[in-house]
Amino acid sequence: MKDIILTGDRPTGRLHLGHYVGSLKNRVLMQNEGEFDQMYIMIADSQALTDNFDNPKKIRDNLIEVILDYLSVGIDPAKTNIFVQSQVKELAELSFYFLNLVTLSRLERNPTVKNEIKQRGFENSIPAGFLVYPVSQAADILLFDANIVPVGEDQEPMLEQAREIARSFNNIYGQTFVEPKAVLPEGKVARRMPGIDGSAKMSKSLNNAIYLADDKKTLKKKVMSMYTDPNHVNIEDPGQVEGNIVFTYLDVFAKDDQFERYLPEFKNLEDLKDHYSNGGVGDVKVKKFLIKVLEEELAPIRERRANYEKNIDQVFTILEEGTRKAQEVGRAKIEEVKKAMGIDYFDDDNLKKLIQEKYN
Ligand code: ATP
Ligand code: MG
Repeated sequence: MKDIILTGDRPTGRLHLGHYVGSLKNRVLMQNEGEFDQMYIMIADSQALTDNFDNPKKIRDNLIEVILDYLSVGIDPAKTNIFVQSQVKELAELSFYFLNLVTLSRLERNPTVKNEIKQRGFENSIPAGFLVYPVSQAADILLFDANIVPVGEDQEPMLEQAREIARSFNNIYGQTFVEPKAVLPEGKVARRMPGIDGSAKMSKSLNNAIYLADDKKTLKKKVMSMYTDPNHVNIEDPGQVEGNIVFTYLDVFAKDDQFERYLPEFKNLEDLKDHYSNGGVGDVKVKKFLIKVLEEELAPIRERRANYEKNIDQVFTILEEGTRKAQEVGRAKIEEVKKAMGIDYFDDDNLKKLIQEKYN
């Protein structure tokens, strides 16, 4: 079996630290290890329209922002095929056939969708397109025969549905699709990075994100505004590390050698946590350290972005060419699908013969 990797992001805004640790880092790692046959990254504009249909300008504007973010974290278009979802018509076609293979109640049970419906205030009138986006997401993955999908934890229910759809299609129409699996990052926090407001998930839609393209000043401001321990008022007070987002972020990003360089009075994160819990360490000190740690991660990304921004025509061409290649793959697969379903009427000489025999 071939190893085909596919992931995507909704162009509803620039990409943030949640994307970075939840998915982008894994994609770059896999890309550079090179142990795969094909890697795709899809900008999911059609999916983004399911809850932003009244604001297509937002999607259109963010297309280029998202690809700039990809390139700036190290996605290499020579190794990875980047494309735009809406321009591959076969995805819409496949989604339409897949809709027959799921029930409404199954869709309503999807825990991520349930959550997002609540978040968006759709409880009383769910746009049908939004409710069925997991079906179109299954099409995204299956049209490209992807078996490996590096994503954050919120995507697991989507992968589950994609596998069910693949299984169901194969049972009815014959073996056509592979069952894809999610590859989650190591570590609980990276799988679902919380927002700077302390809410469960950093998300573009929740306005609680640190963006990869944020400048140093914005980064500082956001970290300084971060939720900590509300009972830790004076420096001497014992502080709570559990649920303290500043420490949650340090868990993901801080490296031992950064203590030596920026905070030499503590040996490592455990040591800092001990002192913080016992009292005597102020929030500002910890936040200033986090700023330095994040700045080390983000400065090179920002720099690469600036270079690509100077060559924006080239970036646009990458998107166009990647999309053309994806269209070719999509066309070939949909032919296979229609053949399996027996709806390839005009490519099927057998059918023509049968009709002739019946009526001539
Ligand atoms: P939106 O609010 O528009 O849904 P989002 O911030 O949830 O945006 P998506 O484009 O839906 O981002 O997600 C793209 C990928 O990034 C998915 O694989 C998702 O699992 C991952 N991801 C997004 N947010 C986080 C997060 N906070 N922690 C870990 N992974 C995340
Ligand atoms: Mg999302």
